[in-house]
Amino acid sequence: MRIYKVGGAVRDRLLGIPVTDIDWVVVGATTEEMLAKGFRPVGADFPVFLHPKSGEEYALARTERKSGRGYGGFTFHASPEVTLEEDLIRRDLTINAMAEDDQQNLTDPYHGQRDLEARLLRHVSPAFAEDPLRVLRVARFAARYAALGFTVAPQTLELMRQLSESGELEALTPERSWKEISRALMEDQPQVFIEVLRACGALKVLMPEVDALFGVPQPPAHHPEIDTGAHTLSVLQQAALHKQPLTVRWACLLHDLGKGLTPEEEWPRHIAHEFKGLKLIKAVNERFKTPRDCQELAMLVGEYHTHGHRALELKPSTLLELLQSFDVYRRPQRFEEFIAACEMDARGREGLEQRSYPQADYLRGAATAARSIAVQPLLEKGFKGPELGEAIKRERLKALKAYKEQV
Ligand code: ATP
Ligand code: MG
Repeated sequence: MRIYKVGGAVRDRLLGIPVTDIDWVVVGATTEEMLAKGFRPVGADFPVFLHPKSGEEYALARTERKSGRGYGGFTFHASPEVTLEEDLIRRDLTINAMAEDDQQNLTDPYHGQRDLEARLLRHVSPAFAEDPLRVLRVARFAARYAALGFTVAPQTLELMRQLSESGELEALTPERSWKEISRALMEDQPQVFIEVLRACGALKVLMPEVDALFGVPQPPAHHPEIDTGAHTLSVLQQAALHKQPLTVRWACLLHDLGKGLTPEEEWPRHIAHEFKGLKLIKAVNERFKTPRDCQELAMLVGEYHTHGHRALELKPSTLLELLQSFDVYRRPQRFEEFIAACEMDARGREGLEQRSYPQADYLRGAATAARSIAVQPLLEKGFKGPELGEAIKRERLKALKAYKEQV
């Protein structure tokens, strides 16, 4: 049997980027031989094994053929006769279809090295179109390597467009899609992911609610960039620049969906877009079975981001309602993430990226004031049940009034 490093490990070594996880391919071996060497089988789908010591993934060389819709619709063939070249041709991009032996001898039948130098994300063969997930993968790699100057080859973008129009994207499971989306959002240039999806028509299929924001104007006085789609991409870019977590990035992407519903006669104003957007945010969350923390923050940011921007003008009673909505007493971290999303929204405007956002500290101070109310003294005064709740609220309101006067 011969063993090669493949995929990301080869690609990133050639790019001079630190390699984190290594994928291996094994040529000329049977499952029985692998088991005899102590490899542990994983998953029922493919002949993939874990190394007994390193835990790294070793896959038997295989060929694949499409036999139906979606990812389940694949038949594969793994046997000791499958060659390295045959295994590499089923891979998505030429830069991911190189292999290396233990002497660092490169096998590169599909010119991955040439495309690395040309900074091109190019499909290996027409079989690219057999797995719609590759549309998302290419967009994700475009986001990851944008800073190095990589772009999607025009012919590959054309294939992605055909896949998007074919209805195949709908066959992706929420889990597979979300895995790619969430990884892409955590890249340094997540906005490129959305741009590439939009350029090939996949955004319209996957997230029509986000796609609809392009071409929708906002008032130039608040939004010099005018276009709501452009604004959304800038907000996402700011979130990455400021190293925000996934929850915040996801909320940033969805915060303005309501603006896509505004009747044209009302443009460029978007009355009550915060509230109108909630059903769209909910729909996107359900489509991808988004993790709960991402869902929650996206809904809260959608509903309250304008409150965040107007924090210094809010009446103490409104401020209190805001804090209660976030359950800031038990979930302080979630409120921090809300503040961060509001700040990214404010910075994601053309020419205003560096402007300070005093609302952030003001909101933090308000949360601290409201949280400073101790329950014990009220219990000692004899408050119980609903009356206790009312008394706590009164005290918090008092604290917020004092806070507002003192700032
Ligand atoms: P990363 O740095 O994100 O791990 P990677 O290229 O190693 O990048 P993996 O998801 O680990 O990506 O997959 C390893 C290799 O398997 C890829 O480089 C590619 O050759 C191949 N591959 C993975 N998923 C697909 C797919 N859906 N279609 C075609 N080839 C794929
Ligand atoms: Mg990998």
